[in-house]
Order: sequence, then C-alpha cells, then structure tokens
Amino acid sequence: MNADPLELQKFSELAHRWWDPTSEFRPLHEINPLRLEWINARAPLAGKNVIDIGCGGGILSESMARKGATVTGIDLGEKALKVADLHSLESGVQVRYKLIAAEEMAAQEAGQYDVVTCMEMLEHVPDPSAIVRACAALVKPGGHVFFSTLNRNPKAYLFAVIGAEYILRMLPKGTHDYDKFITPSELSQFIRSAGLEVQGFKGMGYNPLTKIYSLNDDTSVNYLVAARRPL
Ligand code: SAH
Repeated sequence: MNADPLELQKFSELAHRWWDPTSEFRPLHEINPLRLEWINARAPLAGKNVIDIGCGGGILSESMARKGATVTGIDLGEKALKVADLHSLESGVQVRYKLIAAEEMAAQEAGQYDVVTCMEMLEHVPDPSAIVRACAALVKPGGHVFFSTLNRNPKAYLFAVIGAEYILRMLPKGTHDYDKFITPSELSQFIRSAGLEVQGFKGMGYNPLTKIYSLNDDTSVNYLVAARRPL
C-alpha cells in the first residue's frame, strides 16, 4: 500500500480539530479561498464531477461542492473522514466521502471525473508518482487535474520547516519531512509520464507580518500546478 502509517497517524491525532480555523489546520482554512478560486477559474466547478484525493476533513471538498460540483472525497485517514462526514451533515453541503486508496479508486472509477484535485498530500506519501498516475486514470479525457505541494530547496526548508514549524509555530513540529518535498520539475515529470499535460504553475506566498497568503509566480516554497488530460 502506498501510504505511510506514521503520516496517517499524525493527521489522525489532530483530526478532531480539522474545522477549527484557529487550530493546526488554520493554514488550510486560510489558503482555501485562494486555491478554490484558482481551480474554479481554470475549470468552472458548477455541474462538474469532482474527486478530491487526500481530502482530510473536507475543507476543499466542501467548498467545491458549494460551487455546485458533485464531489467525492477520498483519504486513508479514518478519523478525518468521520470528521468530514459530520461536518457535511452539519453544513448541509453534500460530499461523498470514502476510505480508499487513490490507486484502488482509479481501478474502480477510471475516467469518470471532470476535475481531480490532490492538495497538500503528495509530500506525505511514499510514492507520489503512483498517486499522480491514479489521478491521471481518474480524470476524463479533456479533464483537469490540480496538485499542490512543497518545493525542495534550502529556502523551502527554511520557510516550510524552520519558519512554519519552529519559529512561527503555525504547524506542529514534524508535520513536514523535507526529504519528501517535490520540485516542480520532478512533479512535471510525474505528470507527463502519467500522460497528462502541464498547463501552468502558481506559487503561494505567506507574509508573516500581515499573516496574509497570496498566489504569485514564486514557486520556490508552496506551489500549485494545473494539468490536463489530452482529449
Ligand atoms: N487535501 C486536504 C488535506 C491535506 S492534509 C487539504 O488540502 O485541505 C494531508 C491529507 O493527506 C491527510 O488527510 C492525510 O490523511 C492524507 N494522506 C496522507 N497519506 C495518504 C495516502 N497515502 N492516501 C490517502 N490520503 C493520504
């Protein structure tokens, strides 16, 4: 199985706080409107069939459903999915959540999705290229696939590990393992080998003084990539 039990455990221990915007998940709450609008601008979500890989407690999944998409969220974290289900009941925003590996889902529902999202997850799995292949299998011809992850270079180590975990203490120590960070060129390679076309990159920046996140063209730390399956 392409999953690291220690990674799953880390998220499991925090899962009950997933929807608390002041918790360890605060960064995900704060970046969500930015990534949602970026996705929606490239692939208008209303009426689309969407799958969110590594959905966790469902921050992105629910927001895409609110835009009018039919959303499936999958993850291997049992507690996060329970939290996701409860939140969906409370909010009245319907999402189909499933405890299943991306590769298994790709075998069951190949080519059924207009949009596939896989955010902040690749840097937590043993073999990210296999997840990219699963995403490529799930999307319809002509459909969109969106990833986000962390770049691997000294600046990313300084900002994403030392800065976020040790200085600003935005994330628990040990949240991110530098060795698993993925450079844009590595991710491009995975995407192309999976038969998808890279459409564009976007950087995500954080200003610690204003505490504001923004999208920009600096992909040196956090970044997103849009890909498409050829028709
Ligand atoms: N994508 C969500 C959550 C990111 S947190 C968001 O951006 O808001 C990372 C998530 O990846 C956690 O929910 C964790 O359980 C999940 N994860 C880690 N390894 C996984 C794997 N091998 N398969 C599926 N999900 C995994």
